[in-house]
Amino acid sequence: MAIDLRSDTLTRPTDAMRKAMAEAEVGDDVYGEDPTVIELQQRVAAMFGKEDALFTPTGSMANLLAVSSLVQPGQEVLCEASAHIARAELGAHGALAGLTMRTWRDPRGQVDLAAIEAMFAPDMGPFFVRTAAVSVENTHNFAGGAVLPISDLEALRAYATSVGIGVHLDGARIWNAHVATGVPFASYGACADVVSVCLSKGLGAPVGSLVVGSTDAIAEARVRRKRMGGGMRQVGILAAAGLHALDHHVERLADDHANAGLLAEACGLDPSTVDTNIVVVPRDDAAAFVAGARDGGVLIAPVGPKAVRIVTHLGVSREDAEAAAAVLSRL
Ligand SMILES: *Cc1c(COP(=O)(O)O)cnc(C)c1O
Repeated sequence: MAIDLRSDTLTRPTDAMRKAMAEAEVGDDVYGEDPTVIELQQRVAAMFGKEDALFTPTGSMANLLAVSSLVQPGQEVLCEASAHIARAELGAHGALAGLTMRTWRDPRGQVDLAAIEAMFAPDMGPFFVRTAAVSVENTHNFAGGAVLPISDLEALRAYATSVGIGVHLDGARIWNAHVATGVPFASYGACADVVSVCLSKGLGAPVGSLVVGSTDAIAEARVRRKRMGGGMRQVGILAAAGLHALDHHVERLADDHANAGLLAEACGLDPSTVDTNIVVVPRDDAAAFVAGARDGGVLIAPVGPKAVRIVTHLGVSREDAEAAAAVLSRL
């Protein structure tokens, strides 16, 4: 079977995870009566030092609910130019939430506080779009799984508070940032008003994300989720997969990071430039490189015409990574 390094969304639930799902206690979650969903929401809220959390089917919905808890229709959110909310959510924030975006550009997806300060627009009455929030992504997907230093997030938090705007953290892979740096989840939580997290990436759950924030923000998000058709019923079956992932699949992300370092080296990159589980390899011959890897039994994905993305995850063992490294170094 091919070694699949296209994405960490490709993980399949393990036997133990399927067993936990099969045994989950469930109820109607639209009635607020699914005990497993409630347990997951309370657990994740507590991890990030927040009051409440809401389970959503996808990270895109979690991001949409999170950002629209901070930004009203006709206001703007600032984010990095290759942020998932800007590039990979099909314009949902404009199409469905009626807000606009302006972006700063950083090749490593980092917080550029000087750019944010320069772009910030206060309420100018009936003249200019008002900046209501800043959104940051940690780790940053299209910047190759780059970690945002906690000191930068703290500085952003202080600035946002000083000008009275919100901070959203797209923490789809905050688990990887935590394992790579040792920074507690609560410290990340303290830097943002709302956090979105994904269980369906490296944590290996088949489905599921959460929005985490204040009691009021989550109550509002619950209404909007239902309005969007995201009110789910006996969804404790899926929440159980998330609880299992939090128990068993967080610390092991360190293995994915080590495997990513090995693959980076095989592609001629300095492994110290790879923060977590994503390797972006610049290749002028991206399509041919992908095809050559496929012939060797290794699946990787192009990101544009001049780069490929390699992602390690739960479904890739050390032996798989070594075998893939041998194929890629030959190319
Ligand atoms: C995957 C991802 C999401 C959510 O994606 P869904 O496919 O909608 O679950 C959000 N942000 C980032 C950075 C991601 O990588």
